[in-house]
Amino acid sequence: MDIDTIAAISTPMGEGAIAIIRLSGPDAIEIADKIYKGKSKLKEVETHTIHYGKMINPENGAVIEEVMVSVMRAPKTFTREDVVEINCHGGVMSVNKVLELTLRNGARLAEPGEFTKRAFLNGRIDLSQAEAVMDLIRSKTDRAMTVAMGQMEGRLSKLVQSLRQTLLEIIASVEVNIDYPEYDAEEITNGILLEKAKMVRDKIEELLVTAKQGKILREGLSTVIIGRPNVGKSSLLNSLVHENKAIVTDIPGTTRDVIEEYVNIRGVPLRLVDTAGIRETEDIVERIGVERSRKVLKEADLILLLLNYNEALTEEDRKLFKAIEGMDAIIIVNKTDLEQNISLNDVKKLADGRPIITTSLLKEEGVNDLEQAIASLFFEQGIETQDITYVSNIRHITLLNQAKEAINDAINSMSLGVPVDMAQIDVRRTWEILGEIVGDTVSESLIDQLFSQFCLGK
Ligand code: GDP
Ligand code: ZN
Repeated sequence: MDIDTIAAISTPMGEGAIAIIRLSGPDAIEIADKIYKGKSKLKEVETHTIHYGKMINPENGAVIEEVMVSVMRAPKTFTREDVVEINCHGGVMSVNKVLELTLRNGARLAEPGEFTKRAFLNGRIDLSQAEAVMDLIRSKTDRAMTVAMGQMEGRLSKLVQSLRQTLLEIIASVEVNIDYPEYDAEEITNGILLEKAKMVRDKIEELLVTAKQGKILREGLSTVIIGRPNVGKSSLLNSLVHENKAIVTDIPGTTRDVIEEYVNIRGVPLRLVDTAGIRETEDIVERIGVERSRKVLKEADLILLLLNYNEALTEEDRKLFKAIEGMDAIIIVNKTDLEQNISLNDVKKLADGRPIITTSLLKEEGVNDLEQAIASLFFEQGIETQDITYVSNIRHITLLNQAKEAINDAINSMSLGVPVDMAQIDVRRTWEILGEIVGDTVSESLIDQLFSQFCLGK
């Protein structure tokens, strides 16, 4: 197969002062040379060096942009191919012009995720690491970034590979048993194999425990603000968003019918759901209907229920409490700068052990307490340690659950005294499923599908 040279803008459009156009492939340096004018020819420079110069249109010699060009020769590059990165400082227009120049001089526009796909196909990274690149691009907070970084460094891969190694040892010793039956070592072996299989299962279960927190770090704690009209929902939203607005990158392919906003509360990413409902009609039920709003509530990880300090509890307040029975919630009694007309004792009963915070959003009081309450809800579950390997990717979680089932089947067979070569089928299946996490045993169509989710230019 002929490998061509691909090009794309690899920095977010319209953001930042510098944009990078990345070329990768056998002709990357030659193409860059055609449109570059500087002290030396890029073909002649040392690898991993950066050069100041100008981008010119070779057809008429017109200068397009001042640039810094990095030249990185294979194999020590992200894709393991020759890579050239053109750093432009100009706006969208000139960046597009430079990209166009590379395309007219022999490069092809990269498909989404194609750089990472090449890195994977050339053996530079495994599949879980490639997926981490995607998570990194999407990560909403520092913590989510740490998880993705850990995965990219191959922590999950290492763990999974060592489990597969253990499984291989099981398979191998079973094979020895079959080949040399005169040893009659079956009984002893069976016991040892059972131990090993149980160890693998325990490790898989440990990984799955981290999955929920990993998912929250990755996708944000889905949070809904509810309360009667005028209690201060918009004020709360504004104050949370104003102080903690997280950087949000566009995620292609996620069409949601509820509007969301991301905020970062002391390292906990909150995904504030249905913020449009709060801003527009003030009433989530009125806006999206009873059924849908019930669904939004059901799917939330956290409810922020607002009450009015200045007014006695109403029937509507009680209905809202009813609607969030059994859910994680923080009760916020707002407008403490006004006269107290609410019974905090009644609120306590309705809160049912869930935290109650008093605020005056008008005077910006109590917001810190609220943030503290959110953080401790989340961290209570032990997420603070940085060196846990978090599983945050849905595909990985699904595969780990399948692997757990398969290894449990093997364990059950072994405990029942089923011949080891029978149990071995399930061990092998476990080994294969785990292989899919790191990409050893995945199909080509899955690979295509995974990489097409990447942002362009990565
Ligand atoms: P929403 O209808 O629940 O979204 O409530 P808003 O946030 O729009 O607030 C309704 C009104 O209450 C506005 O005039 C706010 O300025 C006011 N308000 C919000 N928080 C407080 C507070 O802590 N104290 C007082 N006195 N007024 C507040
Ligand atoms: Zn409002």
